[in-house]
Amino acid sequence: MENTIPIVHKQVHGHKQKPLNIPRGLEERLACPDCKAGLVLVGEGLLCGACSHVYPVADNGSMPILHCDKSEFANPEYADWERSRSKGTRRRSYRQARLLPKTNVTGIAKPQRNRFVNEVGERWVLNVGSGEQKIILAETWVNLDIQPHNNCDVVGDANWLPFRNGSFDGVCCTSV
Ligand SMILES: [Zn+2]
Repeated sequence: MENTIPIVHKQVHGHKQKPLNIPRGLEERLACPDCKAGLVLVGEGLLCGACSHVYPVADNGSMPILHCDKSEFANPEYADWERSRSKGTRRRSYRQARLLPKTNVTGIAKPQRNRFVNEVGERWVLNVGSGEQKIILAETWVNLDIQPHNNCDVVGDANWLPFRNGSFDGVCCTSV
């Protein structure tokens, strides 16, 4: 279903939200991860025009944090794990802590990913679970991750994608 709610910039309560500092063309692709309606930039962040949920944006205007309340990563357990990270203590990864099977397909996936990047050219690609990206592959390559890594464009859960339907021409997902 194509969503046609326009993005309108407005201010509420006198607070000025810094303009979004995200790749051009990405803002109109963002949507509420819960109800898929369009988002409006307001004083506190990005407001869903339908369910009135307000999503935070990093202080520099980059990296909208679009976690659906239903996401398992929006739960207190994950919030505790995130806090342990900020203390600088060494700890197991979230995957290890939850005893999920270990995955390591980076060596296999890299040449395939590079070929994919060449093939998609200027088309819009969603990189699901982007992790710590060393380089920005293309302006139209959108990095989504559950955590606010370097060069991540949008923080969110792949189970509750915070984008309008039909926003991307391709999807890439490696080592997730
Ligand atoms: Zn909503």
